[in-house]
Amino acid sequence: MAARKKHYEKIYRTFTASISNAHDCGQYCAPLNDGQPVCCDVENAIPAASPPEWKVMKKRTNLWTKYFPDPDDKHAVKEVESINETCIACVCKGAAKCERDNRMLACRSFPFFPYLTKEGEFVGLGYYWIFEDRCWVISNLQIVESEFVKEFGDAYQMLLDADEGEYEAFLEQSAQMRRIFSRRGQIIPLIDRKGGYLKVLPKSGGKIEKASVKEFIKYGPYVSDMAYKAEVKRMEEIFADQ
Ligand code: SF4
Ligand code: SF4
Repeated sequence: MAARKKHYEKIYRTFTASISNAHDCGQYCAPLNDGQPVCCDVENAIPAASPPEWKVMKKRTNLWTKYFPDPDDKHAVKEVESINETCIACVCKGAAKCERDNRMLACRSFPFFPYLTKEGEFVGLGYYWIFEDRCWVISNLQIVESEFVKEFGDAYQMLLDADEGEYEAFLEQSAQMRRIFSRRGQIIPLIDRKGGYLKVLPKSGGKIEKASVKEFIKYGPYVSDMAYKAEVKRMEEIFADQ
């Protein structure tokens, strides 16, 4: 059982909400990344499309091409090899040429993935923790609109129901997050699909409780205004020297 073109066509029609109506989050992370929003910069995040998604997208636009990393960039080469085992690593023409209606599911969802319990229930939105130090949204989950949460939930529920491979991948992603946050001794913050917030307790076998967004910690340059301004200044100096 695998997702088909019709599933992605539906996702592109129905998952269109912005993460936030009040904030253009790229304005916060881009100054720390030489002016490029972190998730639109293939040096930071390599988008992956499943084969049916790739077919649908290639019929809609020429925005996307397959991504071939610099052969000297061993890390990127390894990541692309891993993506290409089941999907297609790809790259767009960059943020200045973004076509909103032709964003991949990966773009529409970032920085979130569907968090599944050990039993396989899709309870909420987890985030790709590897971007904690770069993505402003991860440190500001309170700005995520309920409309985005609903559309994300509907899109991924359809995908998980239709595609065993996607289901298994997110089951493993969620298990990995539990392992890592348990080692850290931290709660996993989740946005509840039903509204509000949840936390997965560390070393608890995945026990989930209601949470307040105030319990969720901030990361890196986003811990305070002062830290952010200092980091912007530091990065400006680095980019000016390049
Ligand atoms: S989702 Fe995160 S990484 Fe992407 S533009 Fe917004 S703040 Fe930046
Ligand atoms: S299509 Fe738009 S949102 Fe997606 S990576 Fe490219 S610039 Fe970013």
